Amino acid sequence: MYRILLFLIFIYGNIRGMQFHTKEDVPRLYHPRFLMYEEPYNIEFKYHNYEQMSRFLRATSLRFQNLTALYSIGKSVKGRDLWVMVVSSSPYEHMIGKPDVKYIANIHGNEAVGRELMLHLIHFLVTSYGSDAYITWLLDNTRIHILPSMNPDGFEVSKEGRCDGGQGRYNARGFDLNRNFPDYFKQNNKKSQPETEAVKEWVSKIQFVLSGSLHGGALVASYPFDNTPNSLFQSFTSTPSVSPDDDVFQHLSLTYSRNHGSMYQGLPCSPSQPAFKRGITNGAEWYPLTGGMQDFNYVWNGCMEITLELSCCKYPPAADLPHYWAENRASLIKFLAEAHRGVHGFVIDENGNPIERASVKVKSRDVSFSTTKYGEFWRILLPGVYKLEVFSNGYVPREVEFVVIEQHPTLLNVTLYSIKRQYDDENGSVLYNGNIGGRPYPHRDHTLHYRPQSGINTAADANNGIFSSISNGFNNFVTNLFG
Ligand SMILES: [Zn+2]
Repeated sequence: MYRILLFLIFIYGNIRGMQFHTKEDVPRLYHPRFLMYEEPYNIEFKYHNYEQMSRFLRATSLRFQNLTALYSIGKSVKGRDLWVMVVSSSPYEHMIGKPDVKYIANIHGNEAVGRELMLHLIHFLVTSYGSDAYITWLLDNTRIHILPSMNPDGFEVSKEGRCDGGQGRYNARGFDLNRNFPDYFKQNNKKSQPETEAVKEWVSKIQFVLSGSLHGGALVASYPFDNTPNSLFQSFTSTPSVSPDDDVFQHLSLTYSRNHGSMYQGLPCSPSQPAFKRGITNGAEWYPLTGGMQDFNYVWNGCMEITLELSCCKYPPAADLPHYWAENRASLIKFLAEAHRGVHGFVIDENGNPIERASVKVKSRDVSFSTTKYGEFWRILLPGVYKLEVFSNGYVPREVEFVVIEQHPTLLNVTLYSIKRQYDDENGSVLYNGNIGGRPYPHRDHTLHYRPQSGINTAADANNGIFSSISNGFNNFVTNLFG
């Protein structure tokens, strides 16, 4: 009976749209089971092994049932769960029109700071909701997925206090997971590992808008591309491998470094290490690598991922953890909020139904992304005037101009009209033959190129009408750039 009463109070609180009048009301109404727990909810500044981490995550999900959801995206080689904790005011369901974002830590098992920071971030978010206006806004408008350890097997064999070296870096079969993803620039022949497969499946199911991959061993925010086309001079010089969204990636990286306690200074970790101006670097300019996760997220899934190197020492003593948390807390939160910059909206048909997997691209930025099953899309962009190109099989392509301002994201809904409908409307006087001139909708410029939706390879969609003749835009972009 008591539980039923609490449940009704909770429902009422939700119906009221979270319009609580005092701070004190929030935990009682929003966490109906809060009163059933007597022990304090804390997270110590110490390293949590797999069992301890799992226990903390379970305890959090039990205690904050309306703010968190715990799920496993798969298992490591040794059978450890790859836990993901969602923190959001809508943890169990995607909030239509609101972005999903993620952090992945500990892909290198001996880079341990990020893993612990993720547990502290979870604790901070759930305990700040309802009392901190900014966190409340963030969790009301964003679904945050946190994978504290992508390589739990590697962590278990790592040693606290070891600042360098490779023990624990790899998964249990000796593979470097950040060299294990499909690569756009070069063929990656490394056998795909269970941890990598789990992440690939995860990101194929959820359209993540923004992502951070947490590492250690340096202090810098590194952004795509990590890899670069084959070059005669590659082994002698480090040159940037510039992506079409370079301005956005630099901004995202600067958002992290500027809000960090010391990263922006760009000081080298040791005299033999490089200094990074403003605490950011293009990945390939630092050193090129094949099979990295951030290029994969960006090129394959349209997700803006950067790599965050958070500590010169890969596995510093636990006594240093309060310092790392203090340095990174604001950065970790401000970075995620960047998902609310740029343009977002829906692609719908003439009857108002969402169009799933429509291909969307910002003109002159040759990386396409696709709509969700609700027809949603997002793109992080800096202030300016842009054109959005949208196409979907069976519909007349559209090009729509829009403006992005600094203060809030631009909402842009695009209606696509079916080719059949157009034919009917015009009494069959115009056969659709791939030319769209004279139609009432802005037609696409045929010199532009789209990346096929199904993957990176060219000519994947051989029967897509007018698009069958369009080659892989990404290839063209790279070819144009590098010759
Ligand atoms: Zn690393």
